[in-house]
Amino acid sequence: MTVEVEACRDCGRTAEESNGEVIDGLCDDCASNYTYCTVCKEDLDRDTASYRHRHLYYDCERGKWLGVGGQDMEERDYDVVRDSLHMLCDFLGGDFALALGITIRLGEMGFEAVHFSGSTFGYDSVFISLSGPTPNPKYRNGYKLWMRFLYGSEIESWSRQFDIPDLEEQLTPAIQWIIGLDNDKTPESNEKTLAWLDEYMRRPEPAILTPNLAPPYR
Ligand SMILES: [Zn+2]
Ligand SMILES: [Zn+2]
Repeated sequence: MTVEVEACRDCGRTAEESNGEVIDGLCDDCASNYTYCTVCKEDLDRDTASYRHRHLYYDCERGKWLGVGGQDMEERDYDVVRDSLHMLCDFLGGDFALALGITIRLGEMGFEAVHFSGSTFGYDSVFISLSGPTPNPKYRNGYKLWMRFLYGSEIESWSRQFDIPDLEEQLTPAIQWIIGLDNDKTPESNEKTLAWLDEYMRRPEPAILTPNLAPPYR
């Protein structure tokens, strides 16, 4: 009788050959090239996960896969997303917070609502198109759209104006988070976001004092 030895599906080595274990078809070395998306419930190679998948992103500084589908999300990472979202709301205004909540409730988040555009090296701009509070038959589902390109250069100028040198890093958790919200596929994350937005709306003071920043492009 022969015992079948499981080989790694990527490099073809057996556990003995790779001096480790082969778990779920991958040896230790190859497993480190993958990360798990908790939304799609599948393994993604690092390249896809980093650049071609909306649900998660790699935080180089902390060495963790974060975002709506990030396998390394811990309680304090959610706190970071909440604070980051509140900051983003301060910069984009109450209309943004309101429209984001409406869009989540309507189940209209996803690529068409929020995505990166421009450069693949970091982001050039973030396209945001949300359902607004004023019914208008001209627009999607009868709702007015809250639409805006958030440019990297704009974040840079805010960063100088408010003397927050790492502003882009501070806004990244929120931006990556809203990009990953996926309606029926992310019910818990949607609920969390709605609670954070509610918290934001009820807060007496903004996190930072912003004078009237550029109004959204309509
Ligand atoms: Zn392998
Ligand atoms: Zn996914």
